[in-house]
Amino acid sequence: MELYKEQQLKIYNSLSKKKEEFTPIVEGNVGMYVCGPTVYSNVHLGNVRTFMSFDLVFRYLKHLGFKVRYVRNITDAGHLENDADEGEDRIAKKARLEQIEPMEVVQRYTVDFHTTLQKFNNIPPSIEPTATGHIVEQIEIIKEIIDKGMAYEINGSVYFDVIKYNETEHYGILSGRNIEDSIHNTRALDGQSEKKNPQDFALWKKADKHHIMRWPSPWSDGFPGWHLECSAMSTKYLGKQFDIHGGGMDLKFPHHECEIAQSKTTNGVHPVNYWMHANMLTLNGQKMAKSTGNNILPEEIFSGDNTILSKPFTAGVVRFFMLQANYRSILDFSSVALEASEKGHSKLMEAISFLPGIAVSKESSFDVKAWKQKCYNAMNDDFNSPILIAQLFDAVKQVNLLKDNKATITAADLALFTTTINAFVFDVLGLPNESENNHSDKLEGVVTLLIKLRKEARDNKDWALSDQIRNELVELGIQLKDGKEGTSFTVS
Ligand code: AMP
Ligand code: ZN
Repeated sequence: MELYKEQQLKIYNSLSKKKEEFTPIVEGNVGMYVCGPTVYSNVHLGNVRTFMSFDLVFRYLKHLGFKVRYVRNITDAGHLENDADEGEDRIAKKARLEQIEPMEVVQRYTVDFHTTLQKFNNIPPSIEPTATGHIVEQIEIIKEIIDKGMAYEINGSVYFDVIKYNETEHYGILSGRNIEDSIHNTRALDGQSEKKNPQDFALWKKADKHHIMRWPSPWSDGFPGWHLECSAMSTKYLGKQFDIHGGGMDLKFPHHECEIAQSKTTNGVHPVNYWMHANMLTLNGQKMAKSTGNNILPEEIFSGDNTILSKPFTAGVVRFFMLQANYRSILDFSSVALEASEKGHSKLMEAISFLPGIAVSKESSFDVKAWKQKCYNAMNDDFNSPILIAQLFDAVKQVNLLKDNKATITAADLALFTTTINAFVFDVLGLPNESENNHSDKLEGVVTLLIKLRKEARDNKDWALSDQIRNELVELGIQLKDGKEGTSFTVS
């Protein structure tokens, strides 16, 4: 039986502001959409935190036995410098400054995004669509919104009419903003903007003559508004209504609010059953951000090359540090906090390495099944990873007692204990299994030792022994190659 039938997961829904029992639209299947990066610069640790939060969600849903379709987009056009539909396209600006093609910018930072997330052991999504790959779908949505009377064209650009939408719907349903207040508090447009109301947002922008990233449309040669791509791609790959939509807390408004307005107008239904928002990583109490320079890059963490850092840290330690906080809480980054996490991380990994050597007894002195359920309870409670980690530290305590013969465990309980620890540490939390990686180091050490012994045999003219070492290694799939620099080996 699938685990999700035994374990009732609850998700904090940012829309209702309550924890709700999770019931997917189609039993056993989950559709999840997460807003991806705008690929115009290297990802910083703040970005990593948000994607790691949803990696935890993806991993736990899969662990529970759900078949998950996880869609995470790449924004490679349409994201302007400020959220009020003004300024240069972020990617085009970078291309202009570096005198390269916009798609070279996109390629470079998409690769950086993928390699970085892989270093932090994030599982890739099921589909990773791009905004530029879905211009046709976006134009179709604009036509529908115009047909439904919720958008207007002006000078070749198309804007969503927020005030009109709000007459029958609630613009602000997710962020809790009240459009009436915003109307009273916003200055009247100064005549420079072509929008009817300051609250309106662009669905299509006419490109001026300098704008390189442009596509033909019924209204002008131009480009889609930033919010539109997520409505287009989530509908295309997950349907008009799907289970989970995630993103960083800073995307609630205006991005997700606009997405709801677009999708609701086009499809007639609220698109998402559970809205999830991951909280920010801060540095010195301020949000890490590309624009302010208040950020740390993953490379700086691995090299220790930043005055904020006392030393380098591994991706596993950073992952552990981030998962020690609830994804809905703000987390402040500091070298001291990372050092504390490093200690905790190595205690946990050390305890795991002791497990195979634990002796079994006729009785168990603690209740492994009850402990296992507490691990599930933590994750069932809106993916509460810090509580899960506290349970894992209870397990560490037990392992140390067992090692010192101050506790006992039966063979069956030890098997359950070991598989549960491994499942939560490596599959659910996604901490890298460093002992697995160490195996390749160990293999290298063993073969190097055999090469040394074979050389000694040859020096002693003990050809029988030297041939035996080489031939038996070949049988194991390890080929030795003698060269001027000495002997090297390959593994097939
Ligand atoms: P961007 O490429 O700027 O659109 O950001 C990609 C993702 O990173 C979005 O989901 C943002 O909400 C998220 N993000 C940006 N800054 C931070 C931060 N300091 N902490 C956590 N997430 C962040
Ligand atoms: Zn989005």
